[in-house]
Amino acid sequence: MSEKIITRFAPSPTGFMHLGVYRTAIFSYLYAKKNGGSFVLRIEDTDKERSKKEYEENIIKSLAWLGLKYDAFYRQSEHINKHRKYLEKMISNGNAYISKETAKDGSGVMKELVRFKNPNIDVTFHDEIKGDVTMNTTDLGDFVIAKNLEEPLFHLAVVVDDFEAGITHVIRGEDHTSNTPRQILIQRTIGAPTPVYAHLPLVLGADKLKLSKRRGALPVTEYKKLGYLPEAILNGVSFVGWNPGTEQEIFTHDELVEAFDLTRVQKSPAVFNQDKLDWFNKEHMKKLSEKELEQNIFAHLPVELQKKKLIPIIADRISKWSDIDTMVGAGELDFFYKAPEYDKAKLIFKNSNEENTKKALEIAIKVLSDIDAEKFDQENIKNSLMLVAENMSSRGELLHPVRFCLSGLDKSPDPFIISEILGKNETLQRLQKAIR
Ligand code: GLU
Repeated sequence: MSEKIITRFAPSPTGFMHLGVYRTAIFSYLYAKKNGGSFVLRIEDTDKERSKKEYEENIIKSLAWLGLKYDAFYRQSEHINKHRKYLEKMISNGNAYISKETAKDGSGVMKELVRFKNPNIDVTFHDEIKGDVTMNTTDLGDFVIAKNLEEPLFHLAVVVDDFEAGITHVIRGEDHTSNTPRQILIQRTIGAPTPVYAHLPLVLGADKLKLSKRRGALPVTEYKKLGYLPEAILNGVSFVGWNPGTEQEIFTHDELVEAFDLTRVQKSPAVFNQDKLDWFNKEHMKKLSEKELEQNIFAHLPVELQKKKLIPIIADRISKWSDIDTMVGAGELDFFYKAPEYDKAKLIFKNSNEENTKKALEIAIKVLSDIDAEKFDQENIKNSLMLVAENMSSRGELLHPVRFCLSGLDKSPDPFIISEILGKNETLQRLQKAIR
């Protein structure tokens, strides 16, 4: 058995992060779990000015919601002593030095920085996604690794923390590719092994620009608020730039763990598609039990609308729970508990006229009156209405005014199911009102 795989997600808590960033967490998590390894959450909070507790809490909440459990958690700021230990070692070995420099702000103030003694060489590393990458480090000069012994900067902190945590696989965003040679140079001087790297291609928005909050990408917690299912988000985001190589698209958490493989991460930038994510959510909604569906839907409905028969109708029309709020807010469901007001001209089907419409409604009343109240269900209603509708110049001649007088809406479910839900009495009353 080879060494245990340990991956990490190392966000900087400097803002709310969108799904593109969480994809990195998801891939790191899936890779670790697939291989029986551990997943570490490291909050990179060494930038004291920009790091905020609020963002850290949001990261923790988002991971929990997505179902990404980590096996270890720490903050980079808790490791200052370790960073210091390595900085001192590097300085005493001649791999780093304290440099006294005048501040660049023109103030003339002298300050000290810790710079890395760059050997100015080609650094080659293997990337699981990009293949072999070689970069020359000469242009980077003796780059700064700490402001002072207590204030390590990014490259040093990342290398020390990855080393100390035994990280075997660094799975992170493409934007870090060019940082890797500097980090490898530091690894070599402190005797740390170079982990396996996998730099994930960018995630683009629909506009083909890098997904960003400035251009409207939402924090994960917004998806929670909008009423998406966490497993659907996990599934949908996993499919941004990855696929399992089969036709299957709907995966549970456990199935994703089972199927995930870094070799199937695509090399080109991936486009995030909100409509596709909605599709994933709808598919996952279909997997809910009747009880779960009812609970979730009723939670968004006023009591007058909490009818079991409405559940399939609503489920069919939404892709996330908040769509119900939108429908309710727009009054689109009001006709289920109160007779609609409408423009009577709209009762008339296409090229028909008032007289024929009236006749059609009278026929509808006649055939529907013949159905027993206990048997007033969509199937019987449909059979009765269709039988007479077939004899008209067009079925719409009958079906349109019936549907419209029941709902008062240009778009609504079919008249059969609406009639069933309203019941015989109410249906006949609305038809009669339409004739008047
Ligand atoms: N803290 C870095 C970031 O948020 C990630 C560092 C890394 O993954 O190595 O971009």
